[in-house]
Amino acid sequence: MAERGDREAFVTLATNDTYALGCLVLGNSLRQRAQTTRKLVVMITPGVTQPMRNQLARVFDMIYDVNLLDSRDAANLQLLGRPDLSVTFTKLHCWRLTMFDKAVFLDADTLVLQNVDELFDREELSAAPDAGWPDCFNSGVFVFRPSEETYDSLLKFAMSQGSFDGGDQGLLNMYFRDWATKDIARHLPFIYNVVSQAFYSYLPAFTQFKDSVKIVHFIGATKPWHHPYNTATKEVTPLPETGHNKDYLQIWWDIFMSFVQPTLDPSLGGLIGE
Ligand code: UDP
Ligand code: MN
Repeated sequence: MAERGDREAFVTLATNDTYALGCLVLGNSLRQRAQTTRKLVVMITPGVTQPMRNQLARVFDMIYDVNLLDSRDAANLQLLGRPDLSVTFTKLHCWRLTMFDKAVFLDADTLVLQNVDELFDREELSAAPDAGWPDCFNSGVFVFRPSEETYDSLLKFAMSQGSFDGGDQGLLNMYFRDWATKDIARHLPFIYNVVSQAFYSYLPAFTQFKDSVKIVHFIGATKPWHHPYNTATKEVTPLPETGHNKDYLQIWWDIFMSFVQPTLDPSLGGLIGE
């Protein structure tokens, strides 16, 4: 009998080499720090270079090519005329990974601090509240069930409704619209998707619960890989305007320096730091 772990996977996404750096750290956080027993999948578009693909192959069990131009049906063709939905469209491809019974999608800017394999006991669509509007879920971490039928239905929905925020989060919240009210089991605790700035909005709660945080999410335009890192002191310098927590940035960089940087192809060196 096949192991359950072979039919379940963590899935992430990169459309370029910079986001792929995030995938490399995320993948290593799942393996080295969280010691997951599940498969790791990265979805990539042609914007990811061959040296980076080789790098990704060191940590991910499967590299799943998503080619925006390799359209399968009329809905896809129509979406090509909607550049605003292109990354959204790419994320939706995770529903086509039907070699898995269940999967957990993680944004490339997330970091897993503790084992989260228990997420596979949850049903579609499970996600944590968005810190900005808690009646919406944040689409950086979600449990789903791959299905071509759901994929088609999501595409049709995207075509007819669009997305209220222009991205995947607005679309998925409209599609799974009863998330907020129907079934509390589909509300993941916030510890599965803690925005790295949470500490600013509610410091006492952060102090109280920070040891139980399992997944950190570096939302916003400035990501961990944009921060200056001093190779002599091995310390990251937080950028005050972004509000990312220094301890979390440091963990991201420690994983990068321990598991990614030593084997990084020299041609990719220019992607990071200063
Ligand atoms: N993404 C990508 N290329 C892009 C933008 C986004 O591959 O140019 C993927 C990546 O996995 C990223 C996710 O889409 O983590 C969502 O975007 P982002 O995390 O930047 O949004 P935020 O969480 O800051 O709202
Ligand atoms: Mn994100």
